[in-house]
Amino acid sequence: MLRLLPQSDAQILRGFIPNYLSPTHSSVQLHLPDAPDAKGSFVSAAVKSSASAAGINSSTRSGVLDKVKMADVATEGGKSVSRSRKPPALEVEGIGIEGISIGGHETCIMIPSMKVAFDIGRCPQRAISHDFLFISHGHMDHIGGIAMYIATRGLYKMRPPTIIVPKCIKTTVEKLLAVYRELDGSELAVNLIGMDVGEEYDMGKNFVVKAFKTYHVVPSQGYLIYAVKKKLKAEYLNLSGQEIKDLKMKGVEITDTTRTPEVAFTGDTTGEFITDEGNADVLNAKLLVMEATFLDEATSLKHARDWGHTHIFEIAELAERFQNKAILFIHFSARYSSETILDAVSKLPASLRDRVTPFLEGW
Ligand SMILES: [Zn+2]
Ligand SMILES: [Zn+2]
Repeated sequence: MLRLLPQSDAQILRGFIPNYLSPTHSSVQLHLPDAPDAKGSFVSAAVKSSASAAGINSSTRSGVLDKVKMADVATEGGKSVSRSRKPPALEVEGIGIEGISIGGHETCIMIPSMKVAFDIGRCPQRAISHDFLFISHGHMDHIGGIAMYIATRGLYKMRPPTIIVPKCIKTTVEKLLAVYRELDGSELAVNLIGMDVGEEYDMGKNFVVKAFKTYHVVPSQGYLIYAVKKKLKAEYLNLSGQEIKDLKMKGVEITDTTRTPEVAFTGDTTGEFITDEGNADVLNAKLLVMEATFLDEATSLKHARDWGHTHIFEIAELAERFQNKAILFIHFSARYSSETILDAVSKLPASLRDRVTPFLEGW
């Protein structure tokens, strides 16, 4: 549940109080990780006993206990820790979405049905149950929680996550993790992949992810997830099961493969990603999660560009380009109140406004 605060209070909260302690944040973030070893008991005793049952040695265990302590802090501060699974915070076009996004503070958008999280400025508890993490760029509000995410999955004996980062920052991320391994004494097992714009990775379960071009002040990229379906070719539709089997045995390709753009996530970018011809599928994805950092005249379009961000005015201007069924605006500047955000969205051209949802978790 969102609790709306007067603008000044909300701004103070966003400015000075760690997000896991903010009243608006707790209802979304402080859930149990969906971890096989946690079994709904996110309390220090249970974690300690699972650590000792697993025969974790003493040097590793001290790392474990540090993390347990941190979990306890979050539990006490959050007040409303849920011990059951909660439905996603938002559902658009049948796709459940969770997370938090405040420009400059933290962004982590999760799609539980695909087990994927996009960016991880801090590490929401719910992110831990997602096997894939796709990082758009190296700014702290998008990557700051990476080590905690990997470490907590290790703590719960979950399979090492697959993390995709822009290829040009992979070595730096490896160095960062090496430092954390030294500090923490833990393995931080991870399948870290560097990917360039245009490259793809097969996520299994009929999903493929492709990196697309975005325009920010540091190297960046967005991610587009396609649903891949195989259908029997039209000319074989009338064949019997045995005939199809025989063709298969002979090595005949009997299926057509179709790809549908399902979910696109931009990360931080100027509006130039909208007019980039290589990004046609991004504007055709069923759900587009895009940044809309600036919303009013107080910030000019030029200023937004200089800072590598999108202004809602240029989104309005390019409204007819968006073919998406649903668009989720994220990463609003922390200066805005939820009322200001809703007001700005209400002024979009009608054809676009009806498909836009501002993501207000964290506000
Ligand atoms: Zn950002
Ligand atoms: Zn950024």
